[in-house]
Parts: sequence; C-alpha cells; structure tokens
Amino acid sequence: MRILLHACCGPCATYPIEQLLLKKYEVTCYFFNPNIHGYQEYVKRYEALKAVCDNYNVKLSGFGEYNLFEWFSSVLKNIDDRCLSCYTHRIEATVKKAGELNISNFTTTLLISHKQDHEKIRAVCESSSENSGVRFFYEDFRKGWKEHWLITGKLNIYKQQYCGCLFSEKERFEKKSCHGSADIL
Ligand code: SF4
Repeated sequence: MRILLHACCGPCATYPIEQLLLKKYEVTCYFFNPNIHGYQEYVKRYEALKAVCDNYNVKLSGFGEYNLFEWFSSVLKNIDDRCLSCYTHRIEATVKKAGELNISNFTTTLLISHKQDHEKIRAVCESSSENSGVRFFYEDFRKGWKEHWLITGKLNIYKQQYCGCLFSEKERFEKKSCHGSADIL
C-alpha cells in the first residue's frame, strides 16, 4: 500500500512516518508548502525534512513547488480565515499529486499539531478526497506529540519558530515593548 504524506517540516514528519511504516505503508513525503516565508526558511525546513526522510529511507518530492503568487491569491480571498484557505491550498495539491503519482492514499503531518485547527484540517482532507479516487487516511497523530520532539532531538534537525506565513511570523515575534519605541531603528 502506498501513501503520500503531505509534510510541512522535518520534526512534524517523524512520528507520522514511523506510524505509517508500522502499518506497512510505502511512504512518499510531499513537501508542498508555499506558505513558508521567506525562501531561506523554506529551504531550511526542506533540508530538515530531507534528513528525516533519509533516516527512515522514504522518498521525498515537492521541493521547488513554491508558487507564492498562487498561495497569496488563494489566501487573500479569505484573509480572515486564512488558515482554512492555506490548509485547502496545500491539501488539494497533495490529492492532485497523489493522483499524478498513482498513489491511492494520502494524509498530512498537520494532524500532529496541537497549534493547528485539527478538525478543520480533517474536514478539508475529507472533502478534498471526495470523488478524487485518493483515500484519506486519518489518524490523530497528536498522541505522538511528545515522542516527535524526542525523535527530533535525537536527529538534531532544524526546529522552526513559527507556523510559516508572514502573519504567523509577526504573531510569534511581535514584542509589545517595541511599539512606538525609538530604539527599533
Ligand atoms: S498561520 Fe500557518 S496555517 Fe495559518 S495561514 Fe499562516 S502558514 Fe498557513
């Protein structure tokens, strides 16, 4: 059984890959994340994922599919609910890629995060799978949250500091003390 695992980064891919291999899936990771800004951050996250894939001896595709124009066009249509648009953009691309690669199952590492909207991601995966011929494999990977940090520590890979987009980077690093301060410059 083959499965395409949409993977957002190295750390989040660790535990899901282990679980899928235990279930005897032949795993291919798909790094489709034009939501990661800027480009150097995108490359760092890809390299961490590559190290994880090499560790588990699984295939990896998707690097370079980084169309910022398409991502912004799709997310800016619904800026107030941008995460939903962002999930949809990435998951629909994953289902399309699975079809192109003739892989009949897919899932996503986004299902490991306590910081993402788990139920929204699940609903997007289910609706994207409908009539596509590609089955959505659901598992609540959040149960492996602690374990994925242990594995990440052992592999000594890059750990990102924010979700991905410019909005999330600002929310993560904005410091109230900077507002109106002449010291910023
Ligand atoms: S916060 Fe994360 S999921 Fe939401 S739009 Fe930004 S990159 Fe996408």
